[in-house]
Amino acid sequence: MPLSDALVHSAFIEYVAQNKKEKRIRYRHCQKDSTKHISRQRDHLIKCKSYLKTMKEQEKHNSITRKAVGMVDESQQPLINNQLFSHKRKQLDKLIAMVIYYEGRSLGLYEDEAMKEFFVNGIGYTSPSRDRISETLLDEAYLDTQEQVKRLLNETSLLNFVSDESNNQPGDRILNMCVMVKG
Ligand SMILES: [Zn+2]
Repeated sequence: MPLSDALVHSAFIEYVAQNKKEKRIRYRHCQKDSTKHISRQRDHLIKCKSYLKTMKEQEKHNSITRKAVGMVDESQQPLINNQLFSHKRKQLDKLIAMVIYYEGRSLGLYEDEAMKEFFVNGIGYTSPSRDRISETLLDEAYLDTQEQVKRLLNETSLLNFVSDESNNQPGDRILNMCVMVKG
């Protein structure tokens, strides 16, 4: 169960409706009655004044209260998701692809809930989806790197090759070719 699901679960009681077999829930803080649906309940809590007020009084900060604060911020501040900052967002998209490409990290790295929250609440930037990373951003990062390598190879008068082997992420043996150019 992701962290925020546990938070959502702590904010309601579950009961079986009379004369029905349906499971229903009642929020602890505002007493609102609802059907059971975890992501809708999370959306409710983000906007629920009673819940947010109680958390504030108890000085509790969690992913829901931070999200609520982030939503207020988005309407008041020109954060990176805003149009004004689209050039900044493009730069960050590129860096995100570079991290995966250079470090061999998992495509799902930025779909981790804590990672998403880090970006949204930290700098108001929504990290790209796994699909966008694999279908667009990685190709761009590859072509960009290829261009840089080509430029270096064209400019140099001396080349030195060093080869080595290692494992890639699924554990296959791969050949590493390192090209040294005259600095
Ligand atoms: Zn509520």
